[in-house]
Amino acid sequence: MTYAKPLPVPDPDSAHFWAGCRSHRLLIQRCRACGTHRFPAGPICAACRSREADWIEASGRATVFSWIVVRHPVPRDIYQDEVPYVVALVTLEEGPRMATNIVGYAPEAVTAGMAVEVVFHDATAEISLPRFRPAGTGAR
Ligand code: ZN
Repeated sequence: MTYAKPLPVPDPDSAHFWAGCRSHRLLIQRCRACGTHRFPAGPICAACRSREADWIEASGRATVFSWIVVRHPVPRDIYQDEVPYVVALVTLEEGPRMATNIVGYAPEAVTAGMAVEVVFHDATAEISLPRFRPAGTGAR
């Protein structure tokens, strides 16, 4: 079955992140010089300008920072079957924020600061999308 929705296109900076998602591991960069965690992946640390970084597996735990409930999707024909759905910014336990969806929860019940955990949606054979659900609601 064809996946009809837009998908990320890994580039040299993000390829390792997407490969991690495919194996259901949330990988982020950690600056080798100052230890700052960073997401999205990039070639330079925003804190100290170092170009040296390692990849680490994030815990997958996060808290909701901000969110919207989408009820009028754009483009409508692609997302109409999913409304209402939640687009959120979550703060990873390691510090960086990530744009994602909150799933497995009534959109109206999402609150600021709620604890969430990553869950991976296997969209295609190559791409798995990291989403978040309320913490402690099931095995990964
Ligand atoms: Zn740094």
